[in-house]
Amino acid sequence: MRILATDLDRTLLPNGSWPSDPGAIPMFNELTVAHDVFVVYVTGRNLALTEAAIADFGIRHPHALIGDVGTSIRTWGDDVWTPDPGWDGHVARTSPAWDADAIRGALAGVDGLVEQAREHCGPFKQSYYVEHDDRERVLSIVHDAVENRYDEAIVYSFDSQSGDGLLDLLPRSANKQTALEYLAEAHGIDNADVVFCGDSGNDLHPLTAGFSGVLVRNADEQLVSGVNRALDLDPELKVYFAQGGCRGLNGYYTGGVIEGAFHYGLFAD
Ligand SMILES: [Mg+2]
Repeated sequence: MRILATDLDRTLLPNGSWPSDPGAIPMFNELTVAHDVFVVYVTGRNLALTEAAIADFGIRHPHALIGDVGTSIRTWGDDVWTPDPGWDGHVARTSPAWDADAIRGALAGVDGLVEQAREHCGPFKQSYYVEHDDRERVLSIVHDAVENRYDEAIVYSFDSQSGDGLLDLLPRSANKQTALEYLAEAHGIDNADVVFCGDSGNDLHPLTAGFSGVLVRNADEQLVSGVNRALDLDPELKVYFAQGGCRGLNGYYTGGVIEGAFHYGLFAD
């Protein structure tokens, strides 16, 4: 069995400003079923927003959902979601100093930080909006206030559609990369047999972690330069940059995911 793991917004979902292929989502749904691929969505979305994406865009249900930027794992079967029983314990054990409430307190009142609604936060995720043009000043205050005190990772990304800067504080042991590694190991699958597709900053770690990576054609500049830096350090990394032209698709969003899956042989004619 091989895993096709993909980010949702602006990777599998055509919700950015680039042109999308109308037939790409039905093609994705058919190809993943026809080739019996184990499908994982890896997203910053919570469960409710993931369900909304499935309904709004017509993407199939995945076999597993790594949600909330890697801080939750659920599996889908018999039409219900089941939380992965081992993941929360694994995170708590491997990031023992993590304390979401303490981080929230340490960052309360920082000028330029706006806390996201509670449904976007969780026991392993404390999230904020940041004015993108002011990010250097704000991020330096954040680093001074919390860095290396809570076994935390500080992840900044830019939502090119809304124009929002997004700041996530997460346990260092829980992110898109580690959650996908955990899932692959649980299914006895080598990391190289996991194809991961992404488009933006919080996809950098899984794209440079030993999986077979795919950047959709609309991948943002921050991600492309991060991946290129990683390739300079480790030319053995497997990363594919979707270009378009595969099966008549343009390489943006879903088309780039399909192109990457063909590139690595998950799909074949
Ligand atoms: Mg994305």
